[in-house]
Amino acid sequence: MEFLQPATWREALEAKSAHHEAVPIFGGTDVMVEMNFDRRRPGYVLDLTRVPEIQVWERENGKFRVGAGVTYTRIITDLKNELPALAMASRTVGSPQIRNRGTVGGNLGTSSPAGDALPPLYASDAEVELASVEGIRRVPVGEFVTGPKRNVLRREELIWGFIIPEAEGPQQYAKIGTRNAMVIAVCSFGLALHPARRKVGTCIGSAAPTPVRAKEAEEFIEGVLAEGDLWETRGAISEAALRRFGEMVEMSARPISDVRGTAEYRRRAVGVLARRTLSWAWAEYRDGR
Ligand SMILES: Cc1cc2nc3c(=O)[nH]c(=O)nc-3n(C[C@H](O)[C@H](O)[C@H](O)COP(=O)(O)OP(=O)(O)OC[C@H]3O[C@@H](n4cnc5c(N)ncnc54)[C@H](O)[C@@H]3O)c2cc1C
Repeated sequence: MEFLQPATWREALEAKSAHHEAVPIFGGTDVMVEMNFDRRRPGYVLDLTRVPEIQVWERENGKFRVGAGVTYTRIITDLKNELPALAMASRTVGSPQIRNRGTVGGNLGTSSPAGDALPPLYASDAEVELASVEGIRRVPVGEFVTGPKRNVLRREELIWGFIIPEAEGPQQYAKIGTRNAMVIAVCSFGLALHPARRKVGTCIGSAAPTPVRAKEAEEFIEGVLAEGDLWETRGAISEAALRRFGEMVEMSARPISDVRGTAEYRRRAVGVLARRTLSWAWAEYRDGR
């Protein structure tokens, strides 16, 4: 196995261009598990940890550009107010050691439907930046992930980072696991209120082949908020509407049964998470937080 260790982003792209088969590694919290279990024996490993350009985030016109090598710990410490759902999701990942090594870039690279960073990215319409020696292309996150552990990354490309709008309203993320830490999600749900646009963004995690937006539920609750003038008055959402929102989210899930839970459990649970996260986020909005 050859170990490639570029010191700059340009060198990393050139290495990937010369060795398409090279497996990029940053935190290694997915890659090393695969190697330890002998599921992967790549000829080349492309270590990105010495590339400074992908370990920074910056603000650009109300949006954040977060490099693929920014760890969960840094998202929690640096961006908890600006990207609250992503910070909440990051807090649920693994343990402190995993959060110190693991990155959203790696979560995107793995493209698991259970990846905790993905629902907040979907709910806020994030875009993924993919780079090669030829240049950079931006892909909406919902188009980036194409199936369980599949994505549109080309052989010669690396993930440069992602672009996500700064939160303009309350956001939530909730996850069900068999215990409170060190668990892969049985199911999860991300939600973002966008008051200026009068929109509600959602995403179901770990209950379909990819993370999925609950589009019908979004349209339903946007209609409820508009008809009741609730964005302006900051009035309460009725129990019936919250319940219906949860039911519509359930209808968007396409769960399977596996060792972590049955399809029936997952479908029901995402409905409950959806109802709860909406009521928490709306309570924050009503309080002006
Ligand atoms: C004990 C343990 C607990 C965990 N708990 C959770 C959890 O609660 N929630 C969760 O979502 N995940 C969890 N994970 C999985 C893992 O930590 C996350 O998926 C993490 O985000 C991976 O990031 P990384 O930087 O370590 O990625 P790596 O392991 O370095 O890479 C992951 C994948 O992305 C690719 N990749 C990495 N960087 C790039 C790049 N710049 N360009 C192109 N491809 C790239 C790699 O080739 C690989 O395919 C856990 C893992 C362990 C070992």
